[in-house]
Amino acid sequence: MTVKAFAVSDVGRRRETNEDSFLLEQGQGLFAVADGMGGHAAGEVASRLAIDTLKEALQRDAPGRSLGTTDEAGNWLREAVIEANRRIWDSIRVHEERRGMGTTVVALLRAGDDAIIGHVGDSRLYLLRGGALHRMTSDHSWVNEQVKLGLLSDEEAQRHPMRNIVTRALGSRPDVVVDLVTAGVVPGDVFVLCSDGLNTMLSDDEIREILEFHRDDPEAASTALVHAANLRGGEDNVTVVVIGF
Ligand code: CA
Repeated sequence: MTVKAFAVSDVGRRRETNEDSFLLEQGQGLFAVADGMGGHAAGEVASRLAIDTLKEALQRDAPGRSLGTTDEAGNWLREAVIEANRRIWDSIRVHEERRGMGTTVVALLRAGDDAIIGHVGDSRLYLLRGGALHRMTSDHSWVNEQVKLGLLSDEEAQRHPMRNIVTRALGSRPDVVVDLVTAGVVPGDVFVLCSDGLNTMLSDDEIREILEFHRDDPEAASTALVHAANLRGGEDNVTVVVIGF
């Protein structure tokens, strides 16, 4: 299976800085988006630390080769995210001004015909398969907890004033639990990693339509998604990685 991938990260229309970061290591099949939070540019530091940790761990543990079986690759991804959390946590203890900083992370690691998806926080991974859009991650956010309890609808959650409250993030505790799922990949699959600047501006159905229209062209798809989020108001930084198999 050949892989085509493209990433776009944009400050949006309201914010002055872009606190999102992304990773696109097409050769080794590792892709990630991190959405930083915390004042005084600390969010930028946190998301950058998360992405740098994944990148450096990949170079250290698997220089130019694969990470092994699906199980081995999954364990590697979990440990790499835990390492990123530890690095951010340690950085906060050394730099007083970074107190309160944190970041989400969502990552896709290819292992043969499988895609391993790991995440912490409210950045998402979607899969477009056969014209249907599947949400492959479940947000670690206050509003999503309310949705799961049946107290809010998806639409209400998207517009809720507390939609930015993340219940699990890198940097907030010395340890972190990483959610991992594995999906078999079939030719034609399109995966999208995004920060919440995309899915708070666009509905899943709008995301699906744009992806379906550009299904063979990750560059056009990622550019069009970011453009649409900005047209809708661009209230937050928006980062999109589109991977076509
Ligand atoms: Ca955000």
